[in-house]
Amino acid sequence: MKSEFDLVVIGGGPAGSTLACLAKKYNPGRRILILERDRFPRHHVGESTLPGMLPILDELGVTEKIANCGFVRKVGAVYVRRGQRPWSVPFRTTHSDRGRPAPPAKDYAWQVRRAQYDKVLLDHARESGVEAREGWAVRRTRLPSAADHPAILTVADPSGRELDIEAGIVADCSGQGGVLSRQLKVRSRLPELSNMAVYAYYRCDPFAHPHSGLFEESKIVLRYLRDGWLWFIPLSREIASVGFVCRRERLTNVAREGGLAALLDDRI
Ligand SMILES: Cc1cc2nc3c(=O)[nH]c(=O)nc-3n(C[C@H](O)[C@H](O)[C@H](O)COP(=O)(O)OP(=O)(O)OC[C@H]3O[C@@H](n4cnc5c(N)ncnc54)[C@H](O)[C@@H]3O)c2cc1C
Repeated sequence: MKSEFDLVVIGGGPAGSTLACLAKKYNPGRRILILERDRFPRHHVGESTLPGMLPILDELGVTEKIANCGFVRKVGAVYVRRGQRPWSVPFRTTHSDRGRPAPPAKDYAWQVRRAQYDKVLLDHARESGVEAREGWAVRRTRLPSAADHPAILTVADPSGRELDIEAGIVADCSGQGGVLSRQLKVRSRLPELSNMAVYAYYRCDPFAHPHSGLFEESKIVLRYLRDGWLWFIPLSREIASVGFVCRRERLTNVAREGGLAALLDDRI
């Protein structure tokens, strides 16, 4: 049976764009589709990237586009604990874990506005020959009954109309949406990572912070508190992302009482 698409990727975030773009690069004759439920640019948390993604950006051929976005350059992290001297970790001193050889030496990354970053990556996938549809939500996936049969995705188009799309391969890159893992009931939670965050963007000069460094050499600042930790990420000369992370149950209870903003202010 012939599939409408060789590969359908659910989700157009960094994982979806990267997978689709690389699949197209190494299989130029294949039809590849990304289905993204939102319309880009859209807000997303997760702004402080790591040097490990630079070789991937190189392989995608998108490094120059990202370098031209005007993002704050990041050279490491600073950990701050009450009563201790701040512990600064520049990327140039970090090593790969488990004794594996380190990837090609890159000692910087970017503090990104995800709305812009994710759009550049998705548009780049399009320019590389991938078809990407925004405003298309995957509702259900029927997995193939035999190896040579396609999977069928039931999707809602931007008007809400449902239709079926055939896929030789389905890749779930829906992030916390977890489309396939929820459907297949294989989703599990790691108790030690059962945290939640409340965060906001603040108008300020992030480089006036004693530990955040400079625009070209910034650091993420991680401040430990008795019941969790704060992140401070300089996103531009005028904006910082500040978030408080703590146990899930605690934030759920505070949210129920409508006190999230007050809690974040208090912890800052
Ligand atoms: C509080 C918090 C702080 C973080 N901070 C950092 C950080 O500082 N640095 C860092 O590197 N990472 C950080 N992360 C992690 C980072 O946000 C994620 O790793 C990253 O966004 C994962 O990218 P992704 O492409 O897998 O998923 P996403 O970026 O979430 O993309 C998934 C896409 O799938 C789409 N989608 C979902 N369901 C459907 C559907 N049914 N149909 C179609 N499309 C769908 C969504 O709209 C979304 O655009 C943080 C995460 C959290 C929660």
